[in-house]
Amino acid sequence: MESNDSQDSHFGDFLRINKAEDIYKQMFKLSLLPIIIHDMEMNIIDVNKAALDEFGYSYEEIRAIKVYDLHSESEIKHSEEVLNVMKQENIVSTETSFRRKDGSEFFAEVTPCKYLLENKPIIHVYIKNITERKHNEEKLFDALEKAKENERLKAAFLANMSHEIRTPLNSVFGFSTLLNEENITDSDKKRYASIIASSSSHLLYLINDLIDISKIDAGQIKVVNTTFELHSVLKSLYSIYHSLLISKNKYDIHLKLNLPGEENYIISDETRLRQILFNLLGNALKFTETGSIEFGYAIEDDNLNFFVKDTGIGIPEDSKESIFNRFEQGRKSIGKIYGGTGLGLAIAKSCVQLLDGKIWFESEVNVGTSFFFKIKYKQGEPVPGNNKTNTNGRIGFNNELILVAEDDEFNYDYLDTLLKGFNLRVVRTITGKDTIKEALSNDDLSLILMDIQMPEKNGLEATEEILKHKPKLPIIAQTAYAFQGDREKCLRAGCVDYISKPIERSELLKLIRKNIYIR
Ligand code: ADP
Repeated sequence: MESNDSQDSHFGDFLRINKAEDIYKQMFKLSLLPIIIHDMEMNIIDVNKAALDEFGYSYEEIRAIKVYDLHSESEIKHSEEVLNVMKQENIVSTETSFRRKDGSEFFAEVTPCKYLLENKPIIHVYIKNITERKHNEEKLFDALEKAKENERLKAAFLANMSHEIRTPLNSVFGFSTLLNEENITDSDKKRYASIIASSSSHLLYLINDLIDISKIDAGQIKVVNTTFELHSVLKSLYSIYHSLLISKNKYDIHLKLNLPGEENYIISDETRLRQILFNLLGNALKFTETGSIEFGYAIEDDNLNFFVKDTGIGIPEDSKESIFNRFEQGRKSIGKIYGGTGLGLAIAKSCVQLLDGKIWFESEVNVGTSFFFKIKYKQGEPVPGNNKTNTNGRIGFNNELILVAEDDEFNYDYLDTLLKGFNLRVVRTITGKDTIKEALSNDDLSLILMDIQMPEKNGLEATEEILKHKPKLPIIAQTAYAFQGDREKCLRAGCVDYISKPIERSELLKLIRKNIYIR
């Protein structure tokens, strides 16, 4: 007796059952997996609590409907599945989707078991909600597809890049060799030199595109708003593209610039705006043989609406979705025929987005393409003297002395030739240490062109050291890197300005003119 009492108190919270089969009833009732028992006419005979929770019905409600009412799919499909299950020897799970009472749907793995009860077939199914797993699988699948697509684009890009780089390099290499040959006429010399120049500038565009894309990826491009004359930007693009048309012998194209009445000073990022138009015009020129290329803008509802329209080959329907994607060139053969990297529109789109704008296009094959983009119109006040050449009236100089810190022989040679052409004297150093020594001992210097990467103390350290003793000496940094951070680093070290290689003659002249120390 005593022991029974102690047993009772020990198992007091146990559920009492009378028959062993009641254990199985409890298992059905308390199972965490929803279970439905139904007959072959799809009448629901019984469900457990987990099923009621999952489907959101009360017991009475669910008993009043049929199994296929719980399905998102059609009744036929479910009946077919049931029939299939009936034919199977073993238990097989299938995946299907269900609809809850509130209309929401979920995906489930369904495991049915069949019985004959008094010669009537009945089925019980376990329903395991696998929606999250399915979503994860879909995400993984999408990511895999994207990775494969990126891989394909990258491979196509590399093949194309190799072609793109080799072609202009081939011209540079070939024609510079030819320049050295005896007996070439002056006119041939000029022609070879101009081919070398244009091939090099093509290479430069290519490298700039690649750098821009990496900068965009690294989030390094920041909007720099200034006030500038919109018309002079568009006019300068017009003259660049007009000369390009002539140099490419595209005489059958009429280039038109469409400007509204008066000049507009606007506040925006001039570099980005140029970059967008430059890319769109470049494409218009590339994909058009005859007819016209027209570009310009209009002010509508506080927006600047830009357009670049051409009468070129057009963009086929099946390429329209993808042309803004990186490395995407629309038709497969287009890269081979017209060249390009598939980066121009991706860059243009990113720049438009940086300016909080929108870009789109309309195109018809063999009729032409019109690109449009709009950005907010912010009117600026005219800036006195900002637009015109900021010169002191002199093209050349007065024999002032420039220190060129440059370790590369060819780069120095180029600078030496340019500077002497501007009527400047040049003294050279090739290490950071020597530069400091020369700068501090030579009181005749009017400016330093400082290469940033130099042996024995880099250009930034040398700049800081020199400025400690000669704070007024203007130092312009010159570097082969073109990342935004570099410019800031140079300015922080005390340089008055910054120029990136390859150095363009007019750009260098402008910078020297602006900064040179006149005694
Ligand atoms: P790229 O010009 O270097 O190939 P882009 O990103 O600038 O790369 O352009 C992507 C593709 O869009 C081009 O290869 C071309 O198929 C199509 N495209 C762009 N602009 C035009 C245009 N004005 N006319 C016809 N097709 C164009």
